[in-house]
Amino acid sequence: MERRRSISTKKSFISRYVLNLQFLLMAFLCVLIIIGVVYFTSGKEAQSENSNNKTQNKPVYVNTSPLKPSKWDDNEEINIFREYLRIPSVHPNVDYEPCVEFLKQQAASLNLPIAIYYPVDDQNPVVVITWKGSQPELPAIMLNSHMDVVPVYVEYWTHPPFGADIDDNDDIFARGTQDMKSVGMQYLAAIRSLQRDGVDRLKRTVHIVYVPDEEVGGKRGMVEFVKSVAFKSLNVTFVLDEGSVAINDEGVMPVYHAERTIWQLEFIFHGQSGHGSKLLNYTPGEKFNLVLRKFMEFRAEESRKLNELNYPYGNVTTINLTKVKGGVENNVIPAEMSATFDIRIAVDTDLDEFNRMINGWCTEAGGDITIKALNKGEKEKVTPVDDSNPFWSAFKSSTEESGIKIQPMVLWASSDMRYIRRYNIPAFGFSPLMNTVAKLHDHNEYINVMTYLNGINVYKKIIPSLANV
Ligand SMILES: [Zn+2]
Repeated sequence: MERRRSISTKKSFISRYVLNLQFLLMAFLCVLIIIGVVYFTSGKEAQSENSNNKTQNKPVYVNTSPLKPSKWDDNEEINIFREYLRIPSVHPNVDYEPCVEFLKQQAASLNLPIAIYYPVDDQNPVVVITWKGSQPELPAIMLNSHMDVVPVYVEYWTHPPFGADIDDNDDIFARGTQDMKSVGMQYLAAIRSLQRDGVDRLKRTVHIVYVPDEEVGGKRGMVEFVKSVAFKSLNVTFVLDEGSVAINDEGVMPVYHAERTIWQLEFIFHGQSGHGSKLLNYTPGEKFNLVLRKFMEFRAEESRKLNELNYPYGNVTTINLTKVKGGVENNVIPAEMSATFDIRIAVDTDLDEFNRMINGWCTEAGGDITIKALNKGEKEKVTPVDDSNPFWSAFKSSTEESGIKIQPMVLWASSDMRYIRRYNIPAFGFSPLMNTVAKLHDHNEYINVMTYLNGINVYKKIIPSLANV
């Protein structure tokens, strides 16, 4: 019995042991399967997120919320505008195809031909809707706008940035309401209204153009488009593009007719290296100090012009130190240091003289300084704002007819217009954003319904005036 018992005990021990082993094996397999499943699904999620990023912007911008009802739901123009605002054509990796499809519908509704060009690649379309003139042999007018908008910090928005909600004050909230989907749609709305008034054609052909990539410099948009055969075939003689809000309390609206020249220069200061305990001459640090001091003195004078003498931004040169590099060890004087300055040169500055001044500072600092031109633009062309430019007279009289006071100004920043002006084509930047707080690139960008609708009437006067020059 004892033995039997012991055998049976041994047997049951073995069977239990084997069972345990089986159990352990099963458990191990289960754990493996769970790990596998978790790894596989998480990998897939990451992958699909990535592919979403590539094909349809960031998922956070994808608009799933239904259009919020408002008392303007019966207004055709407000509906069209809101539809355009709800397309999240936002950087980075903008998907422009929904814009192209939307603009095709708009062109069809106006019975106007549309052409899509791809001057750089198939991700960056340029859309041209054409209203043919009664004298199509005359050079044409171009009404330009960009389809892209700058990114949003969604947590700072009181309304969904691509929802186009209208609040109780009739303010429409969305990225692009000011910069510049409003203008893009107001052009078409004005043409629709003119057509309904029985205006079949204007004298000159009008091209309504929608470009990509403006917000990141236009290299995949206007820069290449103006060089293309397609652009030449449009035979453009004057361009209207974006502007900004009123410049003072009297509601005077800016008309931008020029831009400053951008220079971004990296100074590489070569010099005496050695032990950190010595007082050597011509060290890179000394050279950097002198050049930096000269730039900062110049900057202080420009700052005085801006803040004390009330020069407009476009007429002062802005200088900012943006990068500093150098050094290897705390006790070693380096053989090289570098500093980068972002310079926006006032339109009335002689660029050769400015260049000589900078070179003079380098000589004074002891020489052996390499100036690397990261961006050294030529002098930007200025569109005349006097009687020599018939489009100025036409623009001025038509805006005055709408009761708008305008003032020609140099743009403080940069826009696609500089690429157009470089081809000796005059261009004005103007947005009918009357009584509006500037929210371009800011959180809670908005436009009031009445401001938008009034803007349509403003273009209804401007467009015929320009096209009939
Ligand atoms: Zn813009």
